[in-house]
Amino acid sequence: MDYYSKEISKLIESLSSLPGIGPKSAQRLAFHILNMPKEDVKYIADSLVSARDNVHYCKVCCTLTDQDICPICSNPKRNHKQIMVVEDTRDLAAYEKTGKYDGTYHVLHGAISPMQGIGPSEIRLKELMVRLQSEDVEEVIIATNSSLEGETTAMYISKMVKPSGIKVTRIASGVPVGGDIENIDEVTLLRAFEGRVDL
Ligand code: ZN
Repeated sequence: MDYYSKEISKLIESLSSLPGIGPKSAQRLAFHILNMPKEDVKYIADSLVSARDNVHYCKVCCTLTDQDICPICSNPKRNHKQIMVVEDTRDLAAYEKTGKYDGTYHVLHGAISPMQGIGPSEIRLKELMVRLQSEDVEEVIIATNSSLEGETTAMYISKMVKPSGIKVTRIASGVPVGGDIENIDEVTLLRAFEGRVDL
């Protein structure tokens, strides 16, 4: 990238480190940014830094939040006896969008993947077990993706939770194999939830 000055090259390089942004998109974004009003660029930059500084895991369910305990965990109107286990915060958002689930969540931040060297201790499973021991939980609904990793994780959780006597269910196969929960429409998602089966 010798044809651009150092500052421009640096901007393109840093943008292309983001997922889904190839060198061409990075160039397009960089020149777009350079043509934007300064205050708009500052607003974006400040949002990035502020979100990264202030967003962390909820102390209960591990979802991303800017509070100690997220609004769902701290809502007394939610059914705290039901915990839906999802892979990430975007999956939680997908279920929240349906407006039909009133239980709580647990966000794993990933799935077990022996292929990628991600074991049970690399995702937030320990935190789930701590919750099951300290809270009065009746049902754990496993809503991991229907990919190989998602299924492996579901089996692992089922084996881990079952001895405690807590009911374990898995969302139905309305979710296509390999399908990411966040990309599934609300009707299919609801059907998968309502048709969940005992594990
Ligand atoms: Zn929470």
